[in-house]
Amino acid sequence: MSNSQPTSLQRRLLAWYGRHKRNLPWRESGDPYAIWVSEIMLQQTRAQVVAGRYPLFLQKFPTIRALAVADEQSVLALWSGLGYYNRARNLLKAAQKIVDDWDGQLPCQASELRKLPGIGAYTSAAIASIAHGEPVAVVDGNVERVIARLHGLAIDKSATVHRKVALLANQLIDPKHPGDFNQAMMELGATVCLPRKPLCGQCPLVDACATRGEHISPPRAPMQTKTITCALALRTRKSQTEVLLTQRPAQETVMPGLWELPPLKRLAFADKFLALSVRHAIMQTNYIVRVRAVKPAETRTFLKADGICRWVTAAEAETMALTGLARKVLKKARVFGAK
Ligand code: SF4
Repeated sequence: MSNSQPTSLQRRLLAWYGRHKRNLPWRESGDPYAIWVSEIMLQQTRAQVVAGRYPLFLQKFPTIRALAVADEQSVLALWSGLGYYNRARNLLKAAQKIVDDWDGQLPCQASELRKLPGIGAYTSAAIASIAHGEPVAVVDGNVERVIARLHGLAIDKSATVHRKVALLANQLIDPKHPGDFNQAMMELGATVCLPRKPLCGQCPLVDACATRGEHISPPRAPMQTKTITCALALRTRKSQTEVLLTQRPAQETVMPGLWELPPLKRLAFADKFLALSVRHAIMQTNYIVRVRAVKPAETRTFLKADGICRWVTAAEAETMALTGLARKVLKKARVFGAK
């Protein structure tokens, strides 16, 4: 591209963004804390899922100071369904550090933000540009794809390509509107410059693009399918429904400390004991989850003995730090809201 193109490109992209941006709750706020929370949630979770959880999180923890004094289990409970729970733990640690070291004020510059737990190049650039107007480019997977296609670069995972893309993105950014420009690039990648079927006919940058739909992202590795089982044990105490939950050990690498439905001793059981089944995708695996109804008197027979188990009321379960799968099963079994 020639040197004269970026200005026209910036103009077209920003005009397109103004007309076509999705109405998402985090776009209504200029509060750096709210932007930070949204960017952490959006790191590995789809925007539509984040849109359902983000307002509740901010309602419970409206400020950095409110978050900093929260206990970890209540933060994890609000993170339930978003996955990758270390993001929530780091958010809490970072809030505590901000209160201790920066008097509760989130730093403004990307270089300072990167000193906080859980904030890397992408998130620091997003917060600094959107909340404070620092002209630093955000390079997520969507932006990387758009830049690579605009310039006809092969996309691979190498550090060299990533550096080149970051350099080009920083040359392209509109220094007067860096926050909107970054969001426009991400939005273009998420809604128009799609991995396998880019909608070039709707793209505001089509005139400047070196590939125009010829540069298709390689197909993802096929999803694996696995069957797992767990127990749904319910009882009634003092006219209230209680459910048996177990806490994942603190030393687990995946979802430590979260509560889930207890696993069964044996994988197989007859269909007549099936309470329900759900599908649940985690990364590259599709899980078929068979949930066995277990009576309170049968728990010793059918459940694995390890781990802490607790009977909790349906109302309490709803507020606990549950795994996304446990929340899905309890919703489908209509335990939430039960008396
Ligand atoms: S023209 Fe097509 S390939 Fe090029 S940036 Fe736009 S959507 Fe992507």
